[in-house]
Amino acid sequence: MRPASKRPWFGLMALVLAGSVQPACARLVVQDPAQAADPAFDRKLGAMLDALGRSNDALIRRLHDAAAAAPGAIRFREMTDDPATWSSDGDPQRGHTEPDDGRPKREGRNAPTDATVFIPQVALEVGSPRWRSGLLVHELVHALDLASGRYNRDYTVRERRATFMQNVWRHDVGSRLRVSYHGRFSTVDYQVAAQHGAIAAYANYIFTRADFPPPAAPAKAASHALRGAGVARAVVVA
Ligand SMILES: [Zn+2]
Repeated sequence: MRPASKRPWFGLMALVLAGSVQPACARLVVQDPAQAADPAFDRKLGAMLDALGRSNDALIRRLHDAAAAAPGAIRFREMTDDPATWSSDGDPQRGHTEPDDGRPKREGRNAPTDATVFIPQVALEVGSPRWRSGLLVHELVHALDLASGRYNRDYTVRERRATFMQNVWRHDVGSRLRVSYHGRFSTVDYQVAAQHGAIAAYANYIFTRADFPPPAAPAKAASHALRGAGVARAVVVA
């Protein structure tokens, strides 16, 4: 592993609006490119964000554009051997997104809040397992929720929203759909929405409000969704 950066806030990238002339196609701007802690990370991140913005999937493009246009800034930081980049559970590989105001996540946010996405470089490498898992897309939803002031106090709502878009990505790249949040609660909203022709309606929650449709009745929804997704095993529902 490369050594931890002595200048942890260099190498950040920010999504910012290019200006009023291009409101529907915001430009991604790299901050301090000459001082980047790891130019390879910035290059791969830029390429992946660009790919999201040009995705064939309208929902993925919309996520990118909404993040770019959000009133709060969204920055990205590489997870390295520097523990300051790790998630609170001490996992050096588990991506996470933090509000820059340093206040507890459980407070929720109904005003735009700057956010930093922490992500391992391998998640930006096309075709890698972490890329296929849709980690960046998942974290980008958390970042958008913060940057747009739609960050629900209930973490299960936040995780279901993020996993919904993550499953949009997984469906697009042919990965197995995610069915639970680390076994703690069901995350089959995408599968349920797909079954009911309601994907656009669910996505609308993410782009316009802070809540999410209530989980469908666990046993029924999960079994329907699992059958629909071709997944055989049961879902643990908290
Ligand atoms: Zn999450």
